[in-house]
Amino acid sequence: MRKKIVAGNWKMNTTVPEGVALAKAVVEKSAQVPAEVGLIVATPFTHLCPVAEVVSDTRVELSAENCADKEKGAYTGEVSAAMVASTGATWTILGHSERRQYYGETDEKLVEKVKLALANGLKVILCVGEILDERQAGRHFEVVKAQVENVLFNFSAAEMASIVIAYEPVWAIGTGLTATAEQAEEIHAFIRKVLAAHFGEQVAEDTTILYGGSCKPSNAKELFAQKDVDGGLIGGAALKADDFIGIALSF
Ligand code: PEP
Repeated sequence: MRKKIVAGNWKMNTTVPEGVALAKAVVEKSAQVPAEVGLIVATPFTHLCPVAEVVSDTRVELSAENCADKEKGAYTGEVSAAMVASTGATWTILGHSERRQYYGETDEKLVEKVKLALANGLKVILCVGEILDERQAGRHFEVVKAQVENVLFNFSAAEMASIVIAYEPVWAIGTGLTATAEQAEEIHAFIRKVLAAHFGEQVAEDTTILYGGSCKPSNAKELFAQKDVDGGLIGGAALKADDFIGIALSF
């Protein structure tokens, strides 16, 4: 049975003390959430060590928001997968649309990043999703299929056990626009078909596929009720512990 997960992507928000306080509040409230729901907080690199201390020996797992596409060396300002793993984090988000859009993150770079993350024992939340023009042109299936194929088809069925997919329609991120539950289900089911065709039914059935894009306590229930929606990657609403936990209570 695939895992249900609610992951908070803090993006470039909170100072270290604010982040530590937010993590503490999430840990405190996490007891309300059924044990089968995985809870992850993805923090800026600067926050990983102190937040690792806060979440250590709790059910809340820690993620980075990115890692480098190089192993180590003269890459000023980059943070490697090994460095992330050494903080105590066990996950990294990769391929977020903001990384793709503002920092030139290509599918080719993502293959290297996923390889390094897995080699360093990190699990991966790989983001895919179409921009508004692509949705309006009816190209969303084709775009998402290409992102899944270009990155994930470089990995084995066994490696897929360490990879979660987040479908995030870019037009819904931070905009207040949410995909309807039907739109989310349609693409999630499609992604599962793409996985089944390459990796087989079992991998497709076992892969957690999260929805992301203006998910909040008021709309999470309808989204999570869909057969192929296994939880959410949450941006804005993850910055308030009550909202984040409210979403996790929506299964
Ligand atoms: C995200 O950035 O992954 C996201 C889903 O953001 P928001 O929830 O703010 O739309």
